Amino acid sequence: MAKEKANVDMICDVAELSALFEKSSNLDDFLQSAVSVVAWHMNAAVCSIYIYDDTSRMLTLRATQGLSRDAIGRVQLRLGQGIVGLALKELRSICSGCASKSPAFKPIDGIGEEKYEAFLAVPIRRGLTRVGVLVVQDVKEDYFDEVDEQALRAIAGQLATVIENADLLMALHRQEEAVAPAAEPSSKMIKGRGASDGVAQGQGKFMVSGRAGRFRAPDVVPNDLTRADFDRALKTSEQQLKDLQRETAENLSDVAQLIFNAHLLILADEEFSGEILRRIEEGASPVNALVDVVNRYIEIFSASPNPRLREKEHDLKDLGHRLLENLIGGGRAPGDYSGQIILADTLLPSDVLKLATEKVEGFVVQGGVASHIAIICRSLQKPMVMVDSQQFAAFHESCDLLIDGSQGTVYIEPSKEVLSEYAKHRRDVDLLKAAPAVKEETFTADGTRIQLFANINLLSDLKLAEKFCAEGVGLYRSEFPFIIRNAFPSEEEQYQVYSRIVGSMGEREVTFRTLDIGGDKLLSYQGDAEEANPFLGLRGIRFLLQNKDIFSEQLCAMLRAGAGGNTRIMFPLISSVDEFIEARELVGECMKQLDSRQVVYNRETRLGIMVELPSAVELIEDLAHEVDFMSIGTNDLIQYMLAVDRTNEMVSKLYLSHHPAILRAIERVAFVARNHRKDVSICGDIAQDPKMIPFLLGAGITKLSLSPGRIPNIQKAVEAVSIEKAVYAARQMLGFSLISEVESFLSGT
Ligand code: PEP
Ligand code: MG
Repeated sequence: MAKEKANVDMICDVAELSALFEKSSNLDDFLQSAVSVVAWHMNAAVCSIYIYDDTSRMLTLRATQGLSRDAIGRVQLRLGQGIVGLALKELRSICSGCASKSPAFKPIDGIGEEKYEAFLAVPIRRGLTRVGVLVVQDVKEDYFDEVDEQALRAIAGQLATVIENADLLMALHRQEEAVAPAAEPSSKMIKGRGASDGVAQGQGKFMVSGRAGRFRAPDVVPNDLTRADFDRALKTSEQQLKDLQRETAENLSDVAQLIFNAHLLILADEEFSGEILRRIEEGASPVNALVDVVNRYIEIFSASPNPRLREKEHDLKDLGHRLLENLIGGGRAPGDYSGQIILADTLLPSDVLKLATEKVEGFVVQGGVASHIAIICRSLQKPMVMVDSQQFAAFHESCDLLIDGSQGTVYIEPSKEVLSEYAKHRRDVDLLKAAPAVKEETFTADGTRIQLFANINLLSDLKLAEKFCAEGVGLYRSEFPFIIRNAFPSEEEQYQVYSRIVGSMGEREVTFRTLDIGGDKLLSYQGDAEEANPFLGLRGIRFLLQNKDIFSEQLCAMLRAGAGGNTRIMFPLISSVDEFIEARELVGECMKQLDSRQVVYNRETRLGIMVELPSAVELIEDLAHEVDFMSIGTNDLIQYMLAVDRTNEMVSKLYLSHHPAILRAIERVAFVARNHRKDVSICGDIAQDPKMIPFLLGAGITKLSLSPGRIPNIQKAVEAVSIEKAVYAARQMLGFSLISEVESFLSGT
């Protein structure tokens, strides 16, 4: 076979597909360019893309190179129909050397495909979601082989993101909803709950939850706007989005890169901007045409039973506002939130990221905040305070605010004294940030080496890890790229993210934790099934073992990213030895798969567990026989041992890391690990609490993983204590049966 398989690597490159998208004026153009490129690289006579519509359960031919162009948009297949429909239904690639002999083959009249015997169909999917099918065909029988199949799978993974957004735009017709009320003004100091440290000052800006309400134009708008004004607004918006995309790609490339892509896709879609232009041509004012078309899409999306589609409503509103501001001129650059503090009833992770890149100062959020929102804020170093609905009613638009995320306080119209007090505080903080005296290695007062690793949530945390001399990554929470997006990232996209971490750590150890969703970390696209007790539900390893295709993709990406590095993979929420063994077996299968794909990966990847359930503590001896390492996740261990929901404010006083049961569990795990010569660390928040350091060291823990920004503080706490004193403290604390006894000991009374 004289095919140029060397080119396969090139088409697997995300950059090439992104470049294609940049050059295309709309999605159909993009798809058409994509099929031409794939056909050329694979030297195939035909390449086509079929897109799947969830509602009608039909696949439609959207682009083809080699078949009749008339067939585009006309040829439709049911899920399961023909080789194409079957590949998507069963979510597997189908390679037929001689299609006419395949029982599944259903030749379509009038498109000229009879002569193509070799047929290779690869499903395009995002995790559990069916997006479409990528097909190549050729006249020569048995023309496609396994290498082609692998390549096409990689390409399908790349295409999925872009195509899925196209698919969303094809979703159809429906109704309307209500407008959210405004708040009444007032003036005072509010004591809420701190969710992300730091102080911010600015004017309050309400952000109505994107979930409800129509998109509206201001009451007074210029009445002499023309089509040329709209064209200009379109161009400006496009440029702004590209700039934002570039900025996020530079600073937050893991999770944010594609956030603005959705907006660009909508903008590029003929049915969106084309429809607005048509209405303007027919005599509508540009503002009315824009508002009507945006609302039409919002109606479609908000009425969808599919949560993934409902999320798109936010993108539409965001984009609508941007276009509107560029059209009527808002006086302030759209997307610039400097000097502003967002007041919101709900926020999505993508909102937080987007606002952070648009220079927002901080956030005040009503009600409980899912912990991943708080974690993102911390990673981005944006202060956030949570308040209840009564407190929230005290804010008014543009009120002067000062928020203190460490104290959980919000000052409305702060006095001069408050402002100067905080200005002084800020100077101190800046000084500290500028010159934190961190040493590369950490020792106790009597010379015992303690390792300080970084917990990484977003790639931007790596900078802090570097600055504060983290000895490696003790916990990479891999769920963030998943949470932030509207779909499961592909293996290739995950690989890019994970490789960045390994690349930046060099020879230092990196521990990837596999996806830990469920509980309070929910994915909008995960499905509709509501759980009565999500923390006791399909979370962590349970979700992964039930969704092995997603699990395998992630494992392959982690194994590949580990090539040349010093990497480990850790499974969350392990409750039995069986679960660990099942996960380990899957890693073995992934290694075989990678071998057959001839892809390099880290064969030495060590496998371990999070110890965060009482059952794992109880089985710790048995687990220690099997695992390469373990890390104690006290955030969940406390929740599950003490039966205290870690997100429920009503029981927050009971959520105690110094509870005698927790202390004994930690000591027991450390003891067993030491006996089995298994590496053990702590990656829960207890590791960043200076007052708990003597206990942890005294209990035999010598490896801690924490938010990188906390390393200087913890290094000081370690240096201040000798192992002798630490052992004494731990012994004392392990002997107490009352919480109050531990508390008096810790407070030195
Ligand atoms: C933990 O449970 O302690 C932990 C580190 O994991 P997470 O906070 O991500 O659940
Ligand atoms: Mg946990």
